[in-house]
Amino acid sequence: MPAPFVDEPRATHKDVPLIIRALPEESPRKLNILLAEDNAVNRVLAQKLLQKQGHTVTSVNNGIEAVQLWEQNQSSQFDIILMDVQMPEMDGLQATARIRERELATGAHIPIIAVTAHAMKGDRERCLAAGMDGYITKPINPAELAKAILATVPTGAKIVPGPSDPVVEGSSGSALLARFDGDGELLKELAGIFLQECPKMLDEIRAALAAADAKALEIAAHTLKGSVGNFAMPGPWETAQRLELLAQSGQLAGAPEIFRALEQQIAQFNQILARHTAEPAHQRL
Ligand code: MN
Repeated sequence: MPAPFVDEPRATHKDVPLIIRALPEESPRKLNILLAEDNAVNRVLAQKLLQKQGHTVTSVNNGIEAVQLWEQNQSSQFDIILMDVQMPEMDGLQATARIRERELATGAHIPIIAVTAHAMKGDRERCLAAGMDGYITKPINPAELAKAILATVPTGAKIVPGPSDPVVEGSSGSALLARFDGDGELLKELAGIFLQECPKMLDEIRAALAAADAKALEIAAHTLKGSVGNFAMPGPWETAQRLELLAQSGQLAGAPEIFRALEQQIAQFNQILARHTAEPAHQRL
């Protein structure tokens, strides 16, 4: 969370060191960023955090759109691509491989940062093998995001260390707010988007269960998990993950029971979010 700006009184003794404060949100260089993320909640959150760090962001929903937009804009060049790994149509690994292949003709190299769900073992290695330059895990931590960008795009400027405290898991108000860079307005906006998207995500899980479609269930549970993960509430996240892993195993026995538990947790979770969207943003959580 950025420290409140304090106007330092002028030093009157010559042994008082001069303190230069850097604003944590201020990135040394404003970048033109292409963001590929299929999950609406994650996409808006990443876009807003990047914009707060001073960057210009263009968002797309899948790997095919990312490759297309990158190709169309090679003259006005994006500085960096933030690439979700799991996406429909074309995933982030395939999209990166496609871009690296086309770069062989020009010798160019656009930095690509993978954004991936943190439960996936071996992800980092797969991302680097696919030609990605950096790696961050979801849910996105604002300080980690800024650090990964600074590490991937050499700016020549001194790196301003962000807040080093890890975001604490749990449903306390401060942990929740930390997910949104201490920005109550942003939390309110994302909670609204989640509440809007949630019925659709639950419907997709219902439909997959009704059709006994393990692959569709895995994708639908993963999508819900990814959205919930932004709000620092481990309960529904873990249940969605149980459903995802069960579907991944192809064995659907027990899935309806897990889904019923998930529905209950989500109903409670939605009530909490609804309270946040109703509260004035300046109010303490
Ligand atoms: Mn995704």
